[in-house]
Amino acid sequence: MTNVVYLDNNATTRVDPRVLDAMLPYFSDYYGNPSSMHSFGGGVAANIRAAREHLARLIGASPDEIVFTSCGTESDSTAIRAAIESYPAKKHLVTSRVEHPAVKNLFESLSKKGYHTTFVPVDGEGRLDLDYFYDSLSDDTAIVSLMWANNETGVIFPIEEVSRGVKERGIVFHTDAVQAVGKIPIDLGKTGVDMLSLSGHKIHAPKGIGALYIRKGTRFSPFLIGGHQEKGRRGGTENTAAIIGLGKAAELAKQRLDAGDYQRVSKLRDRLEEALLGQVPYTMVNGDRKHRLPNTSSVAFEYVEGEAILLMLNEYGVCASSGSACTSGSLEPSHVLRAMGVPFTAAHGSIRFSLSHYTTEKEIDFVLEKLPPIIARLRELSPFWAKKTA
Ligand code: PLP
Repeated sequence: MTNVVYLDNNATTRVDPRVLDAMLPYFSDYYGNPSSMHSFGGGVAANIRAAREHLARLIGASPDEIVFTSCGTESDSTAIRAAIESYPAKKHLVTSRVEHPAVKNLFESLSKKGYHTTFVPVDGEGRLDLDYFYDSLSDDTAIVSLMWANNETGVIFPIEEVSRGVKERGIVFHTDAVQAVGKIPIDLGKTGVDMLSLSGHKIHAPKGIGALYIRKGTRFSPFLIGGHQEKGRRGGTENTAAIIGLGKAAELAKQRLDAGDYQRVSKLRDRLEEALLGQVPYTMVNGDRKHRLPNTSSVAFEYVEGEAILLMLNEYGVCASSGSACTSGSLEPSHVLRAMGVPFTAAHGSIRFSLSHYTTEKEIDFVLEKLPPIIARLRELSPFWAKKTA
């Protein structure tokens, strides 16, 4: 295995070896089509059913409410487009200012096509402005789409409470739970969520597999129209090996949640954060530290460039990110940090560390040994720092 310290698990995760083992026979021995009449294909269909059950158990759903898709992005698009098609007279859509591009960019594109869109603001800690949110809802609202947890800061929105409020008003509620599933307990029975998106590659399954939960009774129209797969809700021959992998990953994720494994991860994350805040001046944590995913930390090192930090960490084999994988590479500070009003000098020097249950204490120690001197060196070169300390 490549020798890296991998703290970029919100971008993607390593496939668990047990997931890979479960998948491999579906590339070789069990290649039958699950839709076939013969028992060679039927056997595959039975195992897909088992995978669906595992996934349903992870989120407190019933197996027939799960539709397999190709990724989180497809699930998001499918859900939002389905609501729009199901309620053609309604022209208003609601989301937040801090969504992943999979939702944000779709909303922006729909606003150019005649839909009236509301992007609800967040406060300085990344928390949803609930008064603004409820005031924005009307009889014309076709769908509310709010992420369960933010991919950059890890901040968790109060989805259980908010979804019930939306449901009472008879509006469809979708949540992008790509970062939340498998990291925090989710019991959809306790919520008013009508549709939920998730993605395999964030929970140690492979890339190219996702799922959409569709609550029984929700009006729905498919995005991919074709065969009768997924009970007519998503055409296309099933990605059998990946579905089996996602089922296994869901089973393992549930075991980890039940065993409280994420407490160990959050302790490691907190140790990293506390040590950085203690050792490096002009450093702060972005987002509400109380209501946060256990694995995520967005740390702002003022007066340095995030990209420069990442390049120097990369020299030591440390993988982190300067925002979401999709926004890094651009010099614009992330829309999430801008929406939170993080000052320019801090937003530019923000690094996201995202841990997993594979992360070890030794790896955190290694980062703590290397990172403070990197920041000190970069600040020596920074004109902003020179001005600050003049
Ligand atoms: N939504 C969130 C919150 C994400 O973090 C991501 C990926 O980073 C996605 C959606 C997109 O998921 P996928 O890469 O499976 O399309």
